[in-house]
Amino acid sequence: KTFQEMGLPPALLKGVQSLGFEKPSAIQEMALPMCLRRPPENLLAQAQSGSGKTAAFCLAGLCNVDTRLAMPQMLVVTPTRELAVQCVQETLLPMAKFMEPPLEVFSALKGTHPPREGIRAHVVVGTPGSVVAALDKRRLLLTHCATFVLDEADAMLEDSGDSTQHRNKCIQIKNRYLPPGQHQTLLFSATFPREVKEFGLQLAQSPVNEIS
Ligand code: AMP
Repeated sequence: KTFQEMGLPPALLKGVQSLGFEKPSAIQEMALPMCLRRPPENLLAQAQSGSGKTAAFCLAGLCNVDTRLAMPQMLVVTPTRELAVQCVQETLLPMAKFMEPPLEVFSALKGTHPPREGIRAHVVVGTPGSVVAALDKRRLLLTHCATFVLDEADAMLEDSGDSTQHRNKCIQIKNRYLPPGQHQTLLFSATFPREVKEFGLQLAQSPVNEIS
């Protein structure tokens, strides 16, 4: 199947073309239809880096963003700052280049300060601690968030000093701040040991699709 046959909006098709992608990668072909379904479906996906997973969740989320509405509609949580920056610079912004009105992205990272009046960007990408800090200060509202993405969930749980904190922060986002039943959760992980699977099932409401 081509991107066109998958039913992507014209602006995103142009974005995909400008990135030079000719056809969907395997993960994109599996993930996109679930995300384009109505109501959209939750997903736990096993995908290595290099598989095209970033483009898969960016496309899926952007399909459900209306840039005429100045509210966060997509939240991407990554285990590291580098991954967040890379997602925004290399995939999200180039992919969204033809959206009208233009897409705005806020990066919630250590050292960035969400505006006092609240984040009005359409997409928020950040690390768990900074996202929760913005939520706790009420500078980020997820009432219009249609897509919650967790990238590299296994790295989120890896045994670094941050791992329990990362886990708890992700669960707080889900339980305290995301309106139940109104969003889809897309979780990507290179590996799926039991821990990661349990974490995924805590974050994604049923029903969930699992692909590997
Ligand atoms: P990722 O798996 O997100 O780390 O992406 C790996 C690389 O694959 C990135 O450099 C993308 O630009 C590229 N990529 C993603 N999707 C496609 C596609 N459908 N066709 C060609 N390259 C792609």
